[in-house]
Amino acid sequence: MRLVTVGCSGSFAGPSSPASCYLVQVPATTSPDGRAWNVLLDLGNGGLGALQRVIDPLDLDAVLLSHLHPDHFVDVCGLYVYLRYHPTGGTERHGGRAPLPVFGPRDTAERASMAYAGRPGEDMGAQFDFRRLRDTEPITVGPLTIEPRRVYHPVEAFGFRVTGPSTERPGETAVLTFTGDTDYCDAVVDLARGADLLLSEAAFHEGRDADVDPGIHMTGQDAGRLARTADVSSLVLTHVPAWNDLDLTLAEAAGEYSGPTVIASTGATFSV
Ligand SMILES: [Zn+2]
Ligand SMILES: [Zn+2]
Repeated sequence: MRLVTVGCSGSFAGPSSPASCYLVQVPATTSPDGRAWNVLLDLGNGGLGALQRVIDPLDLDAVLLSHLHPDHFVDVCGLYVYLRYHPTGGTERHGGRAPLPVFGPRDTAERASMAYAGRPGEDMGAQFDFRRLRDTEPITVGPLTIEPRRVYHPVEAFGFRVTGPSTERPGETAVLTFTGDTDYCDAVVDLARGADLLLSEAAFHEGRDADVDPGIHMTGQDAGRLARTADVSSLVLTHVPAWNDLDLTLAEAAGEYSGPTVIASTGATFSV
């Protein structure tokens, strides 16, 4: 499988990237059924725009929302418009299209409708099949199995462990873990254990953010500690807000983890 970091800016869109939006692809050549699969992890503000540089959103097979902070879900409104009114593929003129599965925390359907604020009685049921994420209850999308775990954030929030066919080692299985937004916790260590690639948030800096309440975000140092403790093969740091020092985030992680480490950038692709 392949990871494209479509949007990786933390907490709000930055000058060089949209907010959280990550595409997991299984290319047709790697897929056991010979068909390409596209699953989105998060759809934060700006994500839908950059996604169109990679795939047509009509080709999505599922969307998983880690939590309902706007930097992780608010472009669901734009995707609703796209799926409804697209001139050749939208449900408005092509009603036979199956609703796109959208997995999220409690109240995802209501929150998406409130954000869109459509006409009275308008719902998104013809475009989206909303389903609730539950801790440790796996989701299957084509050749991908995704295990959600509740993580440590001020709202109901999940990280994801994605297992699927490897593009790096044909015939074998690979694991990709996305932390979502979380402070360091046992659940995120379980999610990351032995992963080929750990996509970890690193929104905070050591020292500067020490007086912020616990249970919100990790620092680069926390992400490095997570990568080392979970014994992952590579680390991609993400959810870094525009006001952070990227070199400092990398240095914090390097103090804990000696494996290959990069900071996510919009459009970067990682073969797993
Ligand atoms: Zn966030
Ligand atoms: Zn958040």
